[in-house]
Amino acid sequence: MTTLTCHNCDSPGDGNCAGCHGRGKPAGDELRAAFGDDSSCSMCGGTGECQTCGGTGEIEVGGEG
Ligand SMILES: [Zn+2]
Ligand SMILES: [Zn+2]
Repeated sequence: MTTLTCHNCDSPGDGNCAGCHGRGKPAGDELRAAFGDDSSCSMCGGTGECQTCGGTGEIEVGGEG
């Protein structure tokens, strides 16, 4: 089994969602929250985890072989 650093993270390998920097909220959430908009990041659904690697920062390659 081989793993590669995930480059879709906020910073490569940190496992954070690039859309919200791992916070689970979209940028500018402070302003939106002031207006009662408690929306979650559309990329990760509010988990704050990179959806490519699931928050691990690594991607398994090679698969079944
Ligand atoms: Zn990732
Ligand atoms: Zn996100």
